Amino acid sequence: MRKPYIAGNWKMNMTPSAGAAFASDLARAAKEAGCDVKMMIAPPFVTIPAVLEAVKGTGIIVAAQNMNDHKSGAYTGEVSPEMLKDLGVNTVILGHSERRSYYGESDEFINRKVLLAIEEGMDVVLCVGETLEERESGRLEAVLSSQLEGDLKDVKASDMARITIAYEPVWAIGTGKTATPEDADSAHAFIRGRIAEMYSSDIAQNLIIQYGGSVNASNVKALMAKENIDGALVGGASLSVEKFLPIITFNK
Ligand code: PEP
Repeated sequence: MRKPYIAGNWKMNMTPSAGAAFASDLARAAKEAGCDVKMMIAPPFVTIPAVLEAVKGTGIIVAAQNMNDHKSGAYTGEVSPEMLKDLGVNTVILGHSERRSYYGESDEFINRKVLLAIEEGMDVVLCVGETLEERESGRLEAVLSSQLEGDLKDVKASDMARITIAYEPVWAIGTGKTATPEDADSAHAFIRGRIAEMYSSDIAQNLIIQYGGSVNASNVKALMAKENIDGALVGGASLSVEKFLPIITFNK
């Protein structure tokens, strides 16, 4: 049984004070609504400590949106996994399409971060997904395969419990365009099948695969009803209680 896993990626939004106030409101609203999903929020680095304090004892996971591929050293402006762990952060989003496209992150680079996160005992939400051009030219499966193989290279079967995959078609992120539940489910089924080939059917069956791309209160139920969709990675709609609450209580 795969427990629904709903995550909010705040991107470069929320100052520490605004993030703390929002996180307390969200935690209160989630509790009052009897929210019954695994919930994660990923604030910007500097907002993390205030949010950790605000959600203490609530069970809400606070994750980082990125980390460096080194443990420490001369990497100006970067944040290491050790620094995150020292704060109490044990989950990191890696391979988000905004990092791939704006900051040129390759599968090889993402793979180094995945391996380091695992070495440091952290959980990873690994984002994969195709551009519109790749989908329209019939390369969806080839792109997903090469991202999965590249990003998970040398990740051992025994560490796969630490990995959640977020399928995020690039053309659906922040655009208001969502993949249909059928298209999303078929991409998720493909990912699960590749993981079964790369690892085992047991690992594939236990793998949580989130969908991301303009998830909102109106489409979350139809998406989550699909067999292979186990959760959501939400950007824009995770930034207000009014929009995020219906998503984290989709099963109520
Ligand atoms: C995201 O940032 O991962 C995302 C899916 O954004 P949005 O929900 O705004 O499309």
